[in-house]
Amino acid sequence: MALNLDRSVQAFEEAKKFIPGGVNSPVRSFRGVGGTPPFIAKASGSKIIDIDGNEYIDYVGSWGPMILGHAHPKVTAALQQALLNGTSYGAPTELETELAKLINELMPSMELVRMVNSGTEATMSVLRLARAYTKRNKIVKFAGCYHGHHDSLLVKAGSGATTLGVPDSPGVPESIAGNTLTVAYNDIAELESVFAQCGQEIAAVIIEPVAGNMGLVLPKQGYLRQVRDLTKKYGALLIFDEVMCGFRVALGGAQAVYGVWPDLTCLGKVIGGGLPVGAYGGRREIMEYIAPAGPVYQAGTLSGNPLAMTAGITTLKLISEIPETPREPDFYQKITVKTKQLCQGIQEQATKFGFNLQFHQAGSMFGLFFSDQPVVDYESAKQSDVGAFNTYFHAMLEQGIYLAPSQFEAAFMSGVHTDEDITATVAASAYAFGKVAEYYKSR
Ligand SMILES: *Cc1c(COP(=O)(O)O)cnc(C)c1O
Repeated sequence: MALNLDRSVQAFEEAKKFIPGGVNSPVRSFRGVGGTPPFIAKASGSKIIDIDGNEYIDYVGSWGPMILGHAHPKVTAALQQALLNGTSYGAPTELETELAKLINELMPSMELVRMVNSGTEATMSVLRLARAYTKRNKIVKFAGCYHGHHDSLLVKAGSGATTLGVPDSPGVPESIAGNTLTVAYNDIAELESVFAQCGQEIAAVIIEPVAGNMGLVLPKQGYLRQVRDLTKKYGALLIFDEVMCGFRVALGGAQAVYGVWPDLTCLGKVIGGGLPVGAYGGRREIMEYIAPAGPVYQAGTLSGNPLAMTAGITTLKLISEIPETPREPDFYQKITVKTKQLCQGIQEQATKFGFNLQFHQAGSMFGLFFSDQPVVDYESAKQSDVGAFNTYFHAMLEQGIYLAPSQFEAAFMSGVHTDEDITATVAASAYAFGKVAEYYKSR
């Protein structure tokens, strides 16, 4: 069964004439898995349809935002209404307060909230704030955690021990990357030794409390609490980058699941309901350093855009709706159960082939690693058999299942995926694992 992607092939060639690599974000290009990315014509509910007319069950969800599925009727209706009032004013609106207030109610550690246009902008701004507040320069991040593409955070570890930051991309000055220290995820001893060496220079530790950018990697029992205690001991701020996991792993984000409260939090993806939104916020005393309340400059022509706020407000209201009867499961219980069913179904198929794969789940995020070893950090994630993943990925795509085109990305369930979608995905997995078995044999 081969997909007909003729029009996408043409569209990709045309795009490459005018756009670097043909895409506006690198991972869309299928570089990792090979082949042509389907160009998308439209999407609805759990499905996306490409320009050749192929329909896919979508587990990318625009890389996280589409928790209600595509073109949710209530979100599109709210947007249509908002559109009639104009698309941008560059002046304050009540919508901005409404979204900030909703976020504050659902994530109480975010006492003050500043809206921006992307997750990258949120993490970039929050670092400036952390440095200004602590009057320190160094930032600690974790290998395999992604926080957007700005200079300070486009850094990972060299192999093995802690290294001073080496830029991940040409164009990032070493003078900037050098202030970023990188340690292994889930390794408290390594973080302790960094603090022991230069704890008084560290402004902040930024972490994905549930890591979704090296595949899905969960924090070990008690780990986030230890990170919290360590930062407090040395007077460094703790920043949770919940751009991906916020409103994904649970309504209150990873901080609610683990009961660990950061000083500052970054959000994005779900809070924009599919429109470009990011936000950062946290303790009032720190956030009041932000202009015009305080001296730290940060601004945005389209920040708090009325359409984006409308999509975000409508999405957050729908996912936080209280069920009509106390016994009825809420949105997160339902989506978590559905995700579990899918993972179990896929795992059963893998077991039939005698594969020992690593399945991870957190709320509506899930992932599998083609590795027979536990995956707890970037090094162990990288032990996965990328060839096996690529085989699986293409076999799934052929059968109309759209997964992220990389072993090192998470998958996302939406509230509108049906039992039929799950059954079809499990059946497709049985076929795809057959292909993987052939791949293993041919190696
Ligand atoms: C996606 C993501 C970002 C970057 O957000 P953009 O909107 O793509 O700039 C930052 N941090 C995490 C954890 C993310 O998953």
